[in-house]
Amino acid sequence: MRIVLLGAPGAGKGTVAKLLTDYDGSVQISTGDILRNAVKAKTELGKEAQGYMERGELVPDKLIMDIMEVRLREPDCTKGFILDGFPRTIPQAEELKKLLVKLNLKLDMVVDLDVPKDVILDRLTTRRTCSNPACQEIYNIKSKPPKPDGTCVKCGSPAVQRADETVEAITKRLETYNEKTAPLINFYRKEGLLKTISSLSSEEIVSQIKTAIKQ
Ligand code: ADP
Ligand code: ZN
Repeated sequence: MRIVLLGAPGAGKGTVAKLLTDYDGSVQISTGDILRNAVKAKTELGKEAQGYMERGELVPDKLIMDIMEVRLREPDCTKGFILDGFPRTIPQAEELKKLLVKLNLKLDMVVDLDVPKDVILDRLTTRRTCSNPACQEIYNIKSKPPKPDGTCVKCGSPAVQRADETVEAITKRLETYNEKTAPLINFYRKEGLLKTISSLSSEEIVSQIKTAIKQ
């Protein structure tokens, strides 16, 4: 499948994307993960992106489009892709549309994960992420805790709070979402691609996506 996952930070895009990957072999493409890995590896891209990310601001569109053009041309994308955290702005969505025409590909669907704000806030402050770049398993100290010593159940690396998961950065990310990303809901509604899902369970969300994709 070729889909875009929309939704505020904490809406569950990453978790849903991973489940969909297991389902049909489509690759998960998370611009957030690509950028965090670049920051960790101290590449030029990482150095450019780091400040924006720590402040909870968006990285410039040009940088993101350069990453995505390269990524979508990689051979594994023929299996399908789940875009998680991209596009994030109207200009990115316009550019993606052109890029897909160029690559002769069509999106199947754009899924908006519609989650109430209090749930979002609670999830973001209790979230922990495996610090191993090859794993990045997502935990929640209440509902899906890491091991008692704070390490990842899958790989044993420390599960940590992200630098942009302080209350200030979270508030800023939510504002940025409302201002820059929420307008994409209407953009894709007009394109006839939008499917809104309001469930709070990732399993239920995935099953709704599977049903919609088969139709
Ligand atoms: P979340 O959805 O939880 O906010 P992500 O992991 O998707 O987190 O992104 C983390 C940060 O990476 C964002 O706050 C932003 O700075 C940057 N980023 C990720 N994707 C994009 C994008 N498509 N456009 C601009 N900035 C992005
Ligand atoms: Zn891990």
